[in-house]
Amino acid sequence: MSAELGLYIHLPFCPSRCPYCDFFALPWSSGSARPLLAAMHVHLERLAPLAQGRRLASLYLGGGTPSMWPARDLAGLIQAARQRIGLAQAAEISLEANPGTVSQGKLEALRQAGVNRLSLGAQSLDDGLLARLGRRHDAAQTRRALAAARRAGFENISLDLIYGLPGQSQDMACADLARALALEPDHLSYYELTLGADTPFGRLYAKGRPPLPGEDELADWEERAWELVRKAGLERYEVSNFARPGRRCRHNQATWRGGDYLALGPGAHGHLAGVRWAFVADARGYAEQVRQGGEPLAFREEVDPRGRGLELFMLGLRTTEGVDMQAVDRLLGGGLEKEWGAALAQAVSLGWARRRAGRLIPTPRGLTMADAAAALFA
Ligand code: SF4
Repeated sequence: MSAELGLYIHLPFCPSRCPYCDFFALPWSSGSARPLLAAMHVHLERLAPLAQGRRLASLYLGGGTPSMWPARDLAGLIQAARQRIGLAQAAEISLEANPGTVSQGKLEALRQAGVNRLSLGAQSLDDGLLARLGRRHDAAQTRRALAAARRAGFENISLDLIYGLPGQSQDMACADLARALALEPDHLSYYELTLGADTPFGRLYAKGRPPLPGEDELADWEERAWELVRKAGLERYEVSNFARPGRRCRHNQATWRGGDYLALGPGAHGHLAGVRWAFVADARGYAEQVRQGGEPLAFREEVDPRGRGLELFMLGLRTTEGVDMQAVDRLLGGGLEKEWGAALAQAVSLGWARRRAGRLIPTPRGLTMADAAAALFA
């Protein structure tokens, strides 16, 4: 059992559906939201014994667009987690927020409720690109939301930014990044646009429209982008994540280290000591099953030691702290070299990773090649 415990809460509703998104997200409807919230409180009470006395080191409210819920509902969920499970001292409480859904008053109420990390879904600070992405907010709203969050006392604010957008040139992407960095976020999540096949954008792209930048072009952009981010004082600690000192996302880091986290809400995933599960991605179905006393599971699986070791390589090779090989060796009962000695040697000889003090640490090149590096261990 890992020492730290997290809780991920999935709130699936959004103001509207973005055409590239394949997350589990639904249009807001109070007819579904109210019964869902009631069910989540009941479910949390039932799940609390899984913590086995451990307090939460991190609580992550993700979605969907959690910030579109009234502050009192979000505060109620945080308070329920505090009462039913307990929050460790200085626990990280993160909330994903869309710039158009947060007022000064709401941000102050959320800060008072204990939220101490805000992840603002800016996506871009170019109004033309935001419109093309189907986003409802504009760059001015992002700037206002960030300033309001600072006034409300948030000292840990992350911006989400997407690059590789339709019609976006390398210079446009760098200008967009520079605009975001000028807002002095404490953390940046910087993702290449990915198109789920079953989304409006995915279907358009399958027909060759809209034109998107190619792989070589993107690799070139990334070199420029990392340099801009580094000069702004943010350090890369995961393939797509950058932070000022002390501002890395604790919740995500724990999951990348194979740590334990409980789950609440439809579509939420959890992990406890090698057991992984997810709840049904169906708000009504989830609420109904909880109401009837059932467990709304979509799946539950016990991952065998080799599978857990493989997960640690897949996740750890995406981070600058790398993989704790001693932990993998313990999982395999001392069998690390026998199982993965050849893959380890290959990762090192390709220049993708170094072995240091019991860890396998990806090189900058290895971070770029993280998927290929992980595939060596599959
Ligand atoms: S706001 Fe986020 S979660 Fe909701 S539809 Fe858009 S991209 Fe998906």
